[in-house]
This record gives sequence, C-alpha cells and structure tokens, in this order.
Amino acid sequence: MTIVIEENVPLAPYTTFKIGGQARFFCIVRNAEEMAEAVVFARVEKIRILVLGGGSNILVSDAGYSGLVIKNEILGRFVEGGNVDYDLVTVGAGENWDAFVEWSIDRGYCGLENLSAIPGSVGASPVQNIGAYGVEVGNYVKSVKLYDTVTMDFKTVEQADCQFEYRDSLFKKQKGRYAIIQVVFCLRKNTPVNIEYKDLQGYFAGVDPKTLTSLAVRNAVVEIRSKKLPDWRMWGTAGSFFKNPTISKEKFEKIRTKYSDIPGYPQPDGRVKVSAAWILDNICKTKGLFQGNVGTYERQALVLVTKPGATAGEVVEFSKKLMNCVEKETGIKMESEVDWVN
Ligand code: NAP
Repeated sequence: MTIVIEENVPLAPYTTFKIGGQARFFCIVRNAEEMAEAVVFARVEKIRILVLGGGSNILVSDAGYSGLVIKNEILGRFVEGGNVDYDLVTVGAGENWDAFVEWSIDRGYCGLENLSAIPGSVGASPVQNIGAYGVEVGNYVKSVKLYDTVTMDFKTVEQADCQFEYRDSLFKKQKGRYAIIQVVFCLRKNTPVNIEYKDLQGYFAGVDPKTLTSLAVRNAVVEIRSKKLPDWRMWGTAGSFFKNPTISKEKFEKIRTKYSDIPGYPQPDGRVKVSAAWILDNICKTKGLFQGNVGTYERQALVLVTKPGATAGEVVEFSKKLMNCVEKETGIKMESEVDWVN
C-alpha cells in the first residue's frame, strides 16, 4: 500500500470554515491508483468515504466524521490539441479551481472567466455545477473521469450523462458514490464574452462587449467578488451558505404584493429565481447580524462568517434562525448550499 492512513485527524484546517471535529481515518491521494487503494481500505474497514477537495463548501460537525476522509491532491493539466475549433484539456481533480481558470485565460482559452475567484478544487466544480454571472461549468465539461466506489472500477462519464442542472449533477445526487479523478474540459479560443449580469454591465458601462477580452472580464469578476466576499484568511466561511430559491410564478407574485421591489429572474420552466441575499438583507434585515461567534458578512447577507472559537453547532443554530425568518416572511423554505459532514 502506498497511501498513508492516519487516525483521528482534525478536519478544521482542511476546511475554509475552519471548524469541526476529527476524521476517524484520513489519507492524501495523488493519483488514480491511490484513490482506488483508499476506497478498498474503506470497503475492508466497512466505513464511509468523504472525498475532500478545497474544503470550501462543507461544514464539519463538532463530533467529526466517523469514516475515511480522502484528501484529493491529484494534479496535472494536459492539453490535447489537434481539433480545429477546440482543445480538450484534462485537469487533475486536486488542482485549485481559480488557478486553473487563470491558466486557461493565460493560454488564450475563453469561457471560464465568469467563474473566476470561486474557491475550491477542479474536482468539486462539476459536483455542484458551479456557476456565476450567467455561466455554468457543465457547459465546458466534456467528461469526468472517476472511480465508482460502488462497482469498484474506473469510469468516464460523458457530459450528457452528468445530469447537470442548477448547482446540481449526478455526482451530487449520488453523494459519496463517485470519487472524481480528472475533469476533461472542452475549451475554445476567440469566443465572445458574457457580461449580461447587472454587476458586469455596471462595471463595463459604455464599453462595447466586442472589445473585451476574457482577461478583462476575469479581472472585473475578481474585483466585484472581492468587494462582496470576506477575506478567507480573516474569517471562517464557506461563501454563500444558502441556494438562491426558485419558486412558482404565483408564489413570486404573492410575495411581490407585499415587497414590490423584490427582484425575480424568470426561468425557462416558468418559475422565478429570487435572490436569497436580497430577502435576508431587505426583509429579514440580517446583513451584518451576529449571534455569538457566527454572523452574516456585512457586505453580503448570503455569506455566513465565523470568528475564532465558533462551533459547527452555532453555525447550524444561526442558519436555522435565518431560514425561519425567510419562511415566516415569504413562505420560502431555503436550502443550504453547503454540505453538512457528520
Ligand atoms: P447576484 O449577481 O446578486 O445574483 C443574485 C441572484 O439573482 C442569483 O440567483 C442570480 O442567479 C440571479 N440573477 C442576477 N442577475 C441575473 C440575470 N441577469 N439573469 C438571471 N439571474 C440573475 O449574486 P451574487 O451573490 O453577487 O453572486 C454573483 C454570481 O456568483 C451569481 O451568479 C451567483 O450564483 C454566483 N455564485 C456561485 C456560487 C457557486 O457556484 N457555488 C457561489 C456563490 C455565488 P444565478 O445564481 O443563476 O447566477
């Protein structure tokens, strides 16, 4: 066995929330064979598996995790050229997402710039089908190479079978089953930028989008996000804690009779997406509110932040308080975007 299995390893340093208990077993894997080895270990021990990337979208319970945590550090970026319109780029799941986006733009590829400054790893990107400013990663994924922990073999899942939806995918629906090893992206050069979102339109007001480069859009996204998001070195946080809810048109119209300026974004299926941050900020008035060591960030109500000493229990309590307020005022049941690990 080439992997080293450690016992009772504190998980807080491996998460951006910087809180939570220990992993009963813990190992780092650096290639596909080590991933398979780790899974076999868990199978023999009859314990659960949690594959960890950047730890930026999880909240570990104070009691910790009783199974095996596999820290994915599979690296590498391989370009397969030879196609007229596009290149296929295979990237190790343990690569940092934003470093990959920067690298892709440096090499002249277009499309991922709107997904700049999203924390986490490349392997986590298709799981949540990360999206921002009108772009979703699923549109750029050609296939996902993984180890299936149920059938115990390597597989390649093509884009059409990834079940990509809003912040959702096959890998999220069957949580814990698939250990992602590499993601293959289909990237093009010289495609138009997308600045349809208000924040980007405002940033580039008066500028002809045809003159904009992917790098200019990336720089804008980094600047806009840095103003809305807390400094990860100062705060414990997992970024947006709740999903933006999509509700029926009737429900939206009902809420609008009471809160006439609530923004709504019609979806292709007739439903309406609403901003959870707007509701927390304007209806529940919770922006900047703290309870003990946990609060909402002063510049973005959707982002929960913690002070040193916070517990996962405190985060759960505080998030319930926010959810209760939103449900009481609007009838909307908010869902957490962050995965609860226990
Ligand atoms: P924002 O731009 O203020 O948008 C808030 C909500 O309104 C989101 O649900 C967004 O939809 C929707 N929205 C805004 N303009 C829209 C438009 N022109 N057409 C359709 N829907 C529109 O949100 P923010 O908090 O500052 O975040 C900026 C972007 O980063 C958003 O796209 C957000 O979803 C994304 N983000 C992604 C992650 C992640 O992937 N884990 C985490 C945090 C933020 P969308 O959500 O569909 O964009």
